[in-house]
Amino acid sequence: MHPLAYEHLKRVLADGKVIGSDDTCDYYPCHFTGQDCTWCFCPFYPCAVLQTGGEWVKMKTGGFIWSCSNCLWIHRPEVAAALMHEFIKLGIDSVETLQKRTEELPVILLRLKYQAEK
Ligand code: SF4
Repeated sequence: MHPLAYEHLKRVLADGKVIGSDDTCDYYPCHFTGQDCTWCFCPFYPCAVLQTGGEWVKMKTGGFIWSCSNCLWIHRPEVAAALMHEFIKLGIDSVETLQKRTEELPVILLRLKYQAEK
């Protein structure tokens, strides 16, 4: 995990509450006005779920990388809050725990997507 992602997720998971819109950030709004910035460093990365808006993009070197540029989903306030609620419910309250339980993340993502679309 990138050190910036580690530090961000460490703080967010320890706080156990969503950040909301962080208009102190130089990059805000990187997706849309009113976005929730809690999962700026997405714990699902790279999710490889096209329904999020993410996509594989070709690099100059020829390989592919997962791009989150068009993913608005994780920044919707209700989704950000639902994910925080889910992590608290499941006892995922630190980066270390998150890293030990990565196999659960695809199921969590799909459950949240399904709930959001009901
Ligand atoms: S596409 Fe969205 S949900 Fe998937 S890893 Fe990127 S930010 Fe997270």
